Amino acid sequence: MTQRMIQNKTDLLRTSSEKQATAGINPVAARADAPSSIDLSEGKKIFIKDLLDGEHAGQRASILGWVWRRRQHANAQFIVLRDSTGVMQTVVPIAVTAQPLYIESAVEVVGTIVKDDRAPGGYEIRADKAVVIGQSHEYPISKNFSSDFLLDVRHLWNRSSKIKNVMIVRERVLEGARNWFRSKDWHEVNPPIISGSTAEGGATLFELDYFGKKGYLSQSAQLYLESLIFPLEKVWSLTPSFRAEKSRTSRHLMEFWHLEGEVAWLDFEGILKVEEQLLASTLHHVAETAPAELKAIGRDAEDLLRINPPFKRVHYEEVLRRVNSAGMDMRPGDDLSTEHERFLTIEEKSPVFVVEYPKAVKPFYAKIDPDRPELVYSADMLAPEGYGEISTGGQREEDLEAIVERINAEGFNIDNYSWYLDLRKYGSVPHSGFGFGIDRIVRWVTKRETILDTIPYPRTLTRIYP
Ligand code: ATP
Ligand code: MG
Repeated sequence: MTQRMIQNKTDLLRTSSEKQATAGINPVAARADAPSSIDLSEGKKIFIKDLLDGEHAGQRASILGWVWRRRQHANAQFIVLRDSTGVMQTVVPIAVTAQPLYIESAVEVVGTIVKDDRAPGGYEIRADKAVVIGQSHEYPISKNFSSDFLLDVRHLWNRSSKIKNVMIVRERVLEGARNWFRSKDWHEVNPPIISGSTAEGGATLFELDYFGKKGYLSQSAQLYLESLIFPLEKVWSLTPSFRAEKSRTSRHLMEFWHLEGEVAWLDFEGILKVEEQLLASTLHHVAETAPAELKAIGRDAEDLLRINPPFKRVHYEEVLRRVNSAGMDMRPGDDLSTEHERFLTIEEKSPVFVVEYPKAVKPFYAKIDPDRPELVYSADMLAPEGYGEISTGGQREEDLEAIVERINAEGFNIDNYSWYLDLRKYGSVPHSGFGFGIDRIVRWVTKRETILDTIPYPRTLTRIYP
């Protein structure tokens, strides 16, 4: 709240009845006929964080929120109210409530702000009025529920401070990334979600009946982004991507949020620099704009501020050697497993790139290294602390013949790609791109055991409800 808004006490009182109250009318008398008199028309709601800034002791306020905790005493209830900005204790004498206040009841509480060191945030409201706006009977979540049950009631569990803090961090991740793209003059675009051709192909496709033809939910926007570098040169998009992941892991969702970029006139080295800068800048933004949420979650903001380019690189061959000498099994040509990635990064504090992948591990569009044609210009970025892959990026094959050969070799129907091949026919240029999994970044930043806790409504093998 700005200083201007709180110049006098009446500014904190938002109901017409309360304005009358300060004009000399007994607030208790005004209360009886004013349960629905809150002025909701002008965005005048007072937020809890503004009341806790230390400048309102002695003032009167009216707050709207939900009952978060309650303790019953003989003559009063101690109600901790929550709203989107924080929690605040209120002392509500039994005599001033018409109805009981239960966990998650939506209420309006009116009273005087009093400094009290025992209250969370150092202040409480001594209420002379409490009106139930929306009653809440027997809220199903109290303590010690299984993670399965909490997924069943995710529509309610999303109100928890745990999930709320993660949602705010997630928002800041998206904001930080968007800020970076804007500061570097990249263009945001909206590629299609339903498509007839596929970037990754194979087993993880969600197929749909598109008026008698086969359509697919997008696994990646990459091919479309590649087409948009011709008008815009530096493009990015944030879309949901869909993958029917048959194995249940702590880092796979069926529907995840994909942050992808594609840029003309940039090579492999260039795109790795883009990824490093984008990620570091995003994480710094999170550290600067969500310190309280990070702290509540158990992530030291300094961990994020310390992440700066350049990131370490490890060669695929080196990965093979280290993984095998640690007693794990990885053969030449295998992709890294969750276990391998964990092993490689558990002691790291900053992300690591895996580079120099063999051609067989990567899709058809990854450009072959002309000096070592068994390798491609593709790199995975692994998050530190064992969280595993968060992005894949690299230089794209720009040559028509080479890409036709690779599409055929993968067994894809070349007819579905004729539009994509046009990009190699008409003014093809060297270009590179990447895709980050937002949910994976959030999982690492917020130290969640599972990716399910990074998104309000996770879609999994067994869950499409709620
Ligand atoms: P993985 O090998 O971990 O399954 P991938 O290599 O198949 O991932 P890419 O095609 O490289 O994934 O997608 C780019 C990024 O999108 C990944 O680095 C990851 O951050 C994210 N991602 C991919 N699949 C998923 C998924 N099912 N759930 C959440 N994020 C995903
Ligand atoms: Mg990948």
